[in-house]
Amino acid sequence: MAMVSLQHYKRTKIIATIGPATHSYETIKQLIANGANGLRLNFSHGNYQEKGQQISWIRKASKELGKPVAIIQDLQGPKIRLGDFDDIIQVQAAQTLRFGYKTSWVETGIIPTQYDLSAKVSRGERLYLYDGKVRTTVKSVKDGVVYAEAENNGILIARKGINLPDTDFGGDVITEKDKADLAFGSQEDIDYVSMSFIQTAADIEQMQRLIKNLGSSRKIIAKVETQLAVENIDSIVQTADAVMVARGDLAVETLPESVPIVQRKVIGLGIKYGKPTIVATQMLASMTEMPEPTRAEVSDVATAVLVGADCVMLSDETASGQYPLEAVSIMKRVVCYTEANAPVRPLFVGQPEQQVSRSSAISRGVISLASSIRATAIVAETKSGATALQIASERSEIPIIAVTDDPRTAQQLAIVYGVKSYVRPAGKQAAAKLTDFLRETKVLKKGDIVVTASGQYPGVVGTTDTIKVRQLD
Ligand code: PGA
Ligand code: MN
Repeated sequence: MAMVSLQHYKRTKIIATIGPATHSYETIKQLIANGANGLRLNFSHGNYQEKGQQISWIRKASKELGKPVAIIQDLQGPKIRLGDFDDIIQVQAAQTLRFGYKTSWVETGIIPTQYDLSAKVSRGERLYLYDGKVRTTVKSVKDGVVYAEAENNGILIARKGINLPDTDFGGDVITEKDKADLAFGSQEDIDYVSMSFIQTAADIEQMQRLIKNLGSSRKIIAKVETQLAVENIDSIVQTADAVMVARGDLAVETLPESVPIVQRKVIGLGIKYGKPTIVATQMLASMTEMPEPTRAEVSDVATAVLVGADCVMLSDETASGQYPLEAVSIMKRVVCYTEANAPVRPLFVGQPEQQVSRSSAISRGVISLASSIRATAIVAETKSGATALQIASERSEIPIIAVTDDPRTAQQLAIVYGVKSYVRPAGKQAAAKLTDFLRETKVLKKGDIVVTASGQYPGVVGTTDTIKVRQLD
């Protein structure tokens, strides 16, 4: 494994989505080599056999490259789609459209949906089709058929998505498909489950119970993409393990102009509560077809870095685009350039807490000590990853090296700002031994100062109590 000096690590991480364009061992390995730290498997598409294959390719490539990678299982949630029909349906403004659950368009003229909308929607609610390209309002619901009036001319194509920005799912956002997918995922080597279209913190708590019942150690990423999620953002960030600003659906469900503000809010809250944040969708959208990004896209990635996101994400660019490997490389270049030339200026929401927990006080102590003595790195022993997460949330420029005995923790930390992880057996000298290893492999050099954070009870969560300073010889 090639050793890179710590100063060349990017601190903001990259997540890439796997899809037809990246469905091979070699391509996945190259995505990781080019800079991907997390790989997202989108359970809205594909089958289990394909997903299982991708998971084993990712693990093999990650091992070969000596780089822990987070695997994210993205559940579809109540993403409602149109059903199948052959025609392109022409829609005229003021026309009444009829929607039914799995109906036959040819035989009935009722447009099929893959989910029974009639039980959820009410008169007056907005019903958007095809990423908001056709906007309608529900007029009535009768005998399982939803009648909605179109506001504009447009077309409908089979399987396009439906957005219901006003509809309250009443705590019913985890679908039967999600549960089946979750059961599949719990048999597989997955690090995070991401939840689509959540509306409240209670939706996340429901998922926590499902995960616990499956006896799994997955962490939960809450995707912020509904109006209600925006309204409940504080409790959602506190409850989830990580948060994604899912800008695609968010723009349709709220307003496109609200997205940058929500993005900043989420990143600020993530830093405040020590929860990793992910900025997703259209970051390098033009690269699905072109080898170079637009100026605006480069600026979008840089902005996410500057305000302190943990991750920037690629979707179609790597799932179905023509330049998946180039997209990751360019994203990495933008991240590295931005980090090297401007300090990250995180945006804190509200005042820092007056009363801090012991672990957060220790993390602040570690950072302040490391900065004042110009340490090259912080080496933190961590069981669950909590210590590394706490230190990362201070958004220091000093690289954080996490040493853990749990590969799952190393993989989960792969998408956390500024953290690079190593898996080593738990023991009183774990941090010291890792520092020796980094010195031997020339990642650290003579004269470097390292601050280590460790605990009296190695391998026990939340017991960090010892901070040491060491100058390497
Ligand atoms: P999706 O989520 O790609 O699963 O729809 C991201 C988004 O909505 O932006
Ligand atoms: Mn979405």
